[in-house]
Amino acid sequence: MNQDIYIYFADHVPLPLPEGHRFPADKYEKTRLSLMEAKVFQESQFLPSPLISKDDLKSVHDPDYIEAVFQGDLSSLAQKKIGFPWSEDLVNRCRASTGGTLAAARQALKTGYGAQLAGGTHHAHRDFGAGYCVFNDFAVTADVLLREQLVRRIAVIDLDVHHGDGNASMMTGIPEIFVFSMHGAKNYPSKKPASDLDIALDDDTSDQQYLRHLEEAILAVGSFQPDLILYQGGVDPLIDDRLGRLKLSFAGLKRRDELVFTFAKEFSIPIAHVLGGGYSRPIGATVTAYTNTFLAAKASHLF
Ligand SMILES: [Zn+2]
Repeated sequence: MNQDIYIYFADHVPLPLPEGHRFPADKYEKTRLSLMEAKVFQESQFLPSPLISKDDLKSVHDPDYIEAVFQGDLSSLAQKKIGFPWSEDLVNRCRASTGGTLAAARQALKTGYGAQLAGGTHHAHRDFGAGYCVFNDFAVTADVLLREQLVRRIAVIDLDVHHGDGNASMMTGIPEIFVFSMHGAKNYPSKKPASDLDIALDDDTSDQQYLRHLEEAILAVGSFQPDLILYQGGVDPLIDDRLGRLKLSFAGLKRRDELVFTFAKEFSIPIAHVLGGGYSRPIGATVTAYTNTFLAAKASHLF
């Protein structure tokens, strides 16, 4: 166990949801417990994610949108698009999950690997949120690290089953950032703005087809020569997932993670990994898949 590695978590701030809300909010704590049970990390290695500052949000998000989120002035339509009811806790929770990704990326630049048990808010756009995403953690993180000149080039690898429309709209076209998304062609969101590399998969895509696409895509990421990889390892391509529409097995997903992690390790590219989506019911399959991602990182000698 590498004691220098810390894993950030954002659920120290509650996420207040009405009774019966379909978002599986308990998956974060369950994953933390599962990682301790599997002896991947000790309790002392988990750190609460710091809240992102308004200033760090301002250079990528619309100032009026930020104010509306902070003050609770979003229209009911805007709130509905996000999918969470507004509360002060919600604002702080979203600030934590954005700040935690930035903190994980900073750790990755020091040790080669960082992670947050939250994040991957790839549906958030410059001036609106959507699909359980309020602020775009990767766009904010990339912007801060590029402005601080800690990195010259950043690659986003987004393997959540849903297209990273917010990532595409906020970062594609910035020469220092390469945005890659592999997702279900027919899945949410219906509008999919172009990333630097998009791979749209048919419903029921299997392990073999999925991994073949990924191997090719990783070559494209490699030729961009990034100084940092931001990895959205959403586990919703899993066959058990309620929203996924793909047919990846646990072994296939783990192999997916290993391909990404061994690539980072082999080319000595720091990698920061965030959870992204996962919606199995019961939630146990999602928690197992999240835990497997950390086991894949360990097997790839990232820590
Ligand atoms: Zn997703």
